[in-house]
Amino acid sequence: MSNIRTRALEEFKLHKAERFYEENRPVSEFFGTNVFDMPKMQRYLSAEAYNAVVNAIENGEKIERGLADQIAQGMKNWAVKMGATHYTHWFHPLTDATAEKHESFVDPMIGGGVFENFKGSTLIQQEPDASSFPNGGLRNTFEARGYTAWDPSSPAFIIDQTLCIPTVFVAYTGESLDLKTPHLKSISSLSNAALPICKMFDKNVTKVNVMLGIEQEYFLVDEAFYRARPDLMICNRTLIGHTAAKDQQLEDHYFGAIPSRVMAFMKDFETEAYKLGVSLKTRHNEVAPNQFEFAPVYGEANISTDQNLMMMIIMKKIAKKHKLKVIFHEKPFAGVNGSGKHCNWSMVTNTGVNLLSPGKTPRTNLQFLSFFASVMRGVYEHHCLLMSSVASLSNMNRLGGGEAPPAIMSIFIGETLSRLVESIEKLTDKNLTSSSDKEVKVRSKLHIVNQIPEILPDNTDRNRTSTFAFTGNRFEFRAVGSSSNVAQSTFILNAVVTEQLIRFKELVDKYMKQGLAQDKAMMKVIRQYLVESKKIRFEGNGYSAQWHEEAQRRGLRGIVNAPDAYKEYISKKTIELFEKTGVMSKREAQARYEVMNETFVKKLQIEARVMGDIITNHVIPTAFSFQNTLINNARGIKELFPDDYNELCTTQLRMIRKISGYVNELHLLIHNMIEARKVANVIENEAQKAQAYNDTVLPYLPKIRVIADKLEMIVDDELWTLPKYRELLFFR
Ligand code: ADP
Ligand code: MG
Repeated sequence: MSNIRTRALEEFKLHKAERFYEENRPVSEFFGTNVFDMPKMQRYLSAEAYNAVVNAIENGEKIERGLADQIAQGMKNWAVKMGATHYTHWFHPLTDATAEKHESFVDPMIGGGVFENFKGSTLIQQEPDASSFPNGGLRNTFEARGYTAWDPSSPAFIIDQTLCIPTVFVAYTGESLDLKTPHLKSISSLSNAALPICKMFDKNVTKVNVMLGIEQEYFLVDEAFYRARPDLMICNRTLIGHTAAKDQQLEDHYFGAIPSRVMAFMKDFETEAYKLGVSLKTRHNEVAPNQFEFAPVYGEANISTDQNLMMMIIMKKIAKKHKLKVIFHEKPFAGVNGSGKHCNWSMVTNTGVNLLSPGKTPRTNLQFLSFFASVMRGVYEHHCLLMSSVASLSNMNRLGGGEAPPAIMSIFIGETLSRLVESIEKLTDKNLTSSSDKEVKVRSKLHIVNQIPEILPDNTDRNRTSTFAFTGNRFEFRAVGSSSNVAQSTFILNAVVTEQLIRFKELVDKYMKQGLAQDKAMMKVIRQYLVESKKIRFEGNGYSAQWHEEAQRRGLRGIVNAPDAYKEYISKKTIELFEKTGVMSKREAQARYEVMNETFVKKLQIEARVMGDIITNHVIPTAFSFQNTLINNARGIKELFPDDYNELCTTQLRMIRKISGYVNELHLLIHNMIEARKVANVIENEAQKAQAYNDTVLPYLPKIRVIADKLEMIVDDELWTLPKYRELLFFR
């Protein structure tokens, strides 16, 4: 018997652990070789050109066209020496993917032959003739041009002999068509808003950087099985498939020994990552079988984001060599944990002070309290928008699944800080001093047994159930989806905090005018912010049903579905936030809203089609084959034992009926789902269409799945054509 699954099983047996990039040198010797970083700029650029780049990075100053020519020359010389033949502007359209269009360096020479050429104008600007990127109506056919423009703050790099130049992507009118532009704008407005507050503590601060450390979760699946599953191939998730008898219930995968085939893959992709200047720090098994995670050391948000996207590209490429497939989807398998991208976020001054570090005496650390309270105030004010920033068809399958943060925003700050916050809330106007109160003790060393050295416990315990947790010197946004571009949620977080920092300074000034000393005025605003944002703080179990009730009582709005969440994007409050912080115009926000809804519809449409295909072309025919076996068996028995037929064929007859029943149900559900699509398809308004798809098409998917999974459990294993969960999740 040979079917697509048995062939995949045969192929799988041939796949073995093997490394392709044996690097025996210490990492420090090849780290960053494929990046045009500062040391290489120094080597390949004139002092003047180098200074121009540094100025652009540090002070946001424009690079003159003349100097750009020199920079382009230097960049090209380096790239060509590294074996690069092409270059591309590398950008992040509104698709969660990256885009590139390669051009060769070579130009013909007069009189024959070619030479490598790269002009400053080409470095700075390109016009990708790509009118088919999502634009939400920002580009009409008569103004269909779009430009990519060089972002000097993120270094160029080489992948596959192609020099990749990070760029923003904007329309002819200057409106952003990507995720990098609002992200960059939000980073600089946050800095501008934070500066006047920082200067109250240290006059030397001239810039505040947003820092991001991204933990990336992912699944690995054997390529042969992947190719035998149309749903994984096209939707990046399984639409049907009965759970394996054993998956994660024994909790034996988390932090377990990494399987050798996976280790070979990890080492290869880590080698490539190091060459690209990404300092990967951790790797481990995650909770679900075949789920893994890595995290690089945190860095500036713009660069961390680019690096994360680079890693996603590299991982896919390297996985191919290992006959593996990387799955970034948030919920590729039912019944086991989904994947997220935890975004560790903080603010650091150019003088090296982490503004979210409480230090030994958080109580007296007014600077820390100012920023800490502003984040909480902002997150509270725009909790719906923040959830909307992580909403997508795929992430909705994960959020609130009892293993991922719920689709409600809340902040966990831990016991020590909770006590501190409560004591500040109680301060009276007369007693606003920041140091008079009892010191909130930072926990001291833990003694375990004699021969074990004392350990220093963290100030906050972990709370994995929280959407947004303070983890000692940063906040961790855990609801972000594993397949997403984190710029989306980060620029919103930046904007939300910026708004409160602006207000913070205004309030301090106001109270000082009323006669309060600076530190008292600050403490008053801190207290006000903490009181105002009290409802967002939650220290309990975010997975529990009680929390959902409690959140409702507190008036915290969770998200029910993606199209509903998207509405927050164009609410009056949000537009005001975007405009005030300069992150986006109303038109840009509206365009994005269109794109989000459009993407939702398209993805769901694809899932529905693939479901139709799998059921009609795999599940039902397989069910019939098995039913035929039963029918033949019953017929044979009838021939041999005509008198005992009824008794001997009880099971067969029951199963034959059962299969017919399931097939009929499936057939009807698929038919109805198609009809629901037809109705939704004619709706013109994208938002209404997305809502209709969500309300009338989406509910069919789990209903169909349940029946298909029941059939999987009764049909002969030999006949089943799709690789099963035990194969997908337990390859070794
Ligand atoms: P966890 O214990 O949460 O699983 P990991 O070590 O896997 O932690 O990842 C934590 C991430 O947070 C890393 O990327 C780390 O560099 C990053 N990080 C640490 N400190 C900060 C900070 N101050 N700001 C931003 N990110 C940080
Ligand atoms: Mg973490």
